[in-house]
Amino acid sequence: MTANKSAFDVNYDGWVEFFTGLGQPSYRAGQVCAWLWKRRVFDPESMTDFGKELRAALAASLDFSFPEITRSERAKDGTRKFLLVMRDGARVETALIKQGDRLTACLSTQSGCPIGCPFCATGASGFDRNLTAGEIASEFAVMEESAGRDIQNIVLMGMGEPFLNTEAVLDAVRTLNHPKMRGLGIRHFTISTAGIVPGIQALAASGLGVRLAVSLHAADDDLRDELVPCNTSYPVRDLVAAMKDYQEKTGDRVTVEYALFKKKNDTLEHARQLVRLLHGVHAYINLIPANGDVNGYERSTPEDILRFQSVLKSAGFEAEIRAERGADISAACGQLKGKEPPDPAKAKEKRHETRRPHKNERRPHG
Ligand code: SAH
Ligand code: SF4
Repeated sequence: MTANKSAFDVNYDGWVEFFTGLGQPSYRAGQVCAWLWKRRVFDPESMTDFGKELRAALAASLDFSFPEITRSERAKDGTRKFLLVMRDGARVETALIKQGDRLTACLSTQSGCPIGCPFCATGASGFDRNLTAGEIASEFAVMEESAGRDIQNIVLMGMGEPFLNTEAVLDAVRTLNHPKMRGLGIRHFTISTAGIVPGIQALAASGLGVRLAVSLHAADDDLRDELVPCNTSYPVRDLVAAMKDYQEKTGDRVTVEYALFKKKNDTLEHARQLVRLLHGVHAYINLIPANGDVNGYERSTPEDILRFQSVLKSAGFEAEIRAERGADISAACGQLKGKEPPDPAKAKEKRHETRRPHKNERRPHG
């Protein structure tokens, strides 16, 4: 590992500063960003519009190494899943989902996750560390390079909780959105959160216009404390208030994700509770048939899923059942990493100290 800053962590202003510091014109910033983010050329030696000296200065000042794909699988439906290794050995998963001609990249924001939802393979694997903005954005660059074509959408729904790493996540979005960098339209980004209220507020305040999805999975605190442990810090009432506030500030509807687990959260009464809770929220509800069978959280029956959906629809909500992608390659987050032999360097995986904080305690984000 090199001590140099990663080139992927340099934002546009940082590049301008870098080149002007070398006595170069500022348009060089646009040139290097085009190589990295548009042409997917990561080796300064191949950046042919720079002279020899400038290429050498780039290589000497910054680390251009990018995440390495150590494992990849392709499902029958075209979904691909990658296991990436960062320069310090941290491992993350990404997925590339194909819908018709369009590709969606599912990116990780942390290596592992400290929240520890019991049904989630990532949660079960513990927490390693936050990713930097450059690491998150470079997951996308590496996937585009591997796909050999542009990817149209990004969902921050891989490993980790984006709003326990808010600053890096928003900086990664800015990099991928910046017209001189990757230039992906802001409406093509979705951040999925387990319900970290200060993160939702920070996203609204950022004015970025990214789409927001909230993993609700339960409408009452007792059940949600079990399914999504950060609920003990940010109870359902506060979460829904934050969603309403987000809508008021941004004018954007929120996607509510609700994974259905057999006999846990999928009864008629659970559906009615959800309807009551979301009264007044302009929500699009995504019903997710549980993926895998982590810790005995089994998938609901198709009949129960359809019944749940019909209660929501009768109450006037838009509610869709998410089509399963990549089922034959365990495409749910954390499942590919689980197939790897354990890495001894990472064996002492750290759980977040406040993984189950006291009921009324507020956990700072970031
Ligand atoms: N930490 C964020 C984003 C990553 S998880 C969050 O929780 O929203 C992305 C989505 O996958 C979440 O909605 C999560 O609840 C869901 N998920 C994780 N494991 C799952 C499983 N086994 N079955 C169904 N959905 C699952
Ligand atoms: Fe973390 Fe999301 Fe998995 Fe929960 S569902 S453990 S918040 S990645």
